[in-house]
Amino acid sequence: MPGETLFPIQNLPFGVYRRPGDVPRVGVAIGNHVVDLAVLADADLLSDAGVWRGAYFADSLNPLLSEGRTAVGRVRARLTELLEIGNREMPDRPGLVDRALVDRTDVELLVPIRPGDYVDFYSSLHHATNLGRLFRPDGDPLLPNWRHIPIGYHGRSSSVVVSGTDITRPSGQLKAPDAPPRFGPTGRLDIELEVGFVTGDANPLGEPIDVADAEDHIIGLLLVNDWSARDIQAWEYQPLGPFLGKSFATSVSPWLVTLDALEPFRVPAPDQDPPPLSYLEEKNRRGIDLHLEVAVATPDMPRPHVISRTNFRDMYWTMAQQFAHMTSNGTPVRAGDLYASGTVSGPEPGSFGSLIELTRNGADPLTLPSGETRSFLDDGDTVILRGVCEREGHPRIGLGEVRGTITPGDPR
Ligand code: MN
Repeated sequence: MPGETLFPIQNLPFGVYRRPGDVPRVGVAIGNHVVDLAVLADADLLSDAGVWRGAYFADSLNPLLSEGRTAVGRVRARLTELLEIGNREMPDRPGLVDRALVDRTDVELLVPIRPGDYVDFYSSLHHATNLGRLFRPDGDPLLPNWRHIPIGYHGRSSSVVVSGTDITRPSGQLKAPDAPPRFGPTGRLDIELEVGFVTGDANPLGEPIDVADAEDHIIGLLLVNDWSARDIQAWEYQPLGPFLGKSFATSVSPWLVTLDALEPFRVPAPDQDPPPLSYLEEKNRRGIDLHLEVAVATPDMPRPHVISRTNFRDMYWTMAQQFAHMTSNGTPVRAGDLYASGTVSGPEPGSFGSLIELTRNGADPLTLPSGETRSFLDDGDTVILRGVCEREGHPRIGLGEVRGTITPGDPR
């Protein structure tokens, strides 16, 4: 997966970056460069796209996203035109190329969105089945509602951080089966390999979004690592669901890849049995053929080792269904909101998107090439999630990567 250009001109993902000592700006990635949209707007090269100029000078993509999916598409189309070989509009302005094109290694990439709301779904049939088998070995692995409702919970947007941010091992209430609860650092720190979608300002309060219109509001995708403290989660989650076992951090990749750029990789989504209720029924169910992988590095094994490979295409509930369900009660959706897919897992052990599945809740630790074993994450471990779309005859479109390193928590 690594080593090839993941940001060809057909991708042009949006992000927010900062040069040393400067203020944040909106940019797009091409090859190993960032194109500064504020510089292009200053040179009056983006006015055809009809987007409010201030959106390019912002410290998040939210103002741009609030212009809507078609407006973002116009910006991308205009940039494609400007960056095409042979176009003279940039080179003909003295010094402009030097000011607008920045080496990616020279800049800091910031969290691209400021989500007002963050939702995490649970939409992989294989993940839900794997967890059901672990925790309810004697019953049906799927709860009775799972094939009827795109299950989700509201997460915490304040702890959504960009790739590269260190993750402090959280403390919380822990309870061993034969002991009273105690407070301390989690001993079961896990990852969840997920893909998130980001929206524009979609609907006013009280107006549900039809499943057929849902994708009109989905502007782009990010990789998401929904870090999870399994021991905190296990003790707190009944009856209201995940809380502090999840809310300490959620990492996202820095580049928002547009749904438009991913169009060549759309594939039919799996059939659903039983058919969903009519408000979730889709004429043309589509997923995305997006290859995903999880790699781990440790202080004794600095070269990342891939521990899992899977694909986003088999998700049981589509993004459109998640979105239609989420708004079916009329709750409003705002620009920059983040909706994560839920852990993406395949049916075989090498395709699971979390350590709790890969190690069967710690019973079968992984052995790394360094000889180290892991049930869950140790301090100093780095986790890297990567995603790329590839298809014969089309340039590879990458979502890039999201990484995070575990740092020690409070020893209380
Ligand atoms: Mn999750």
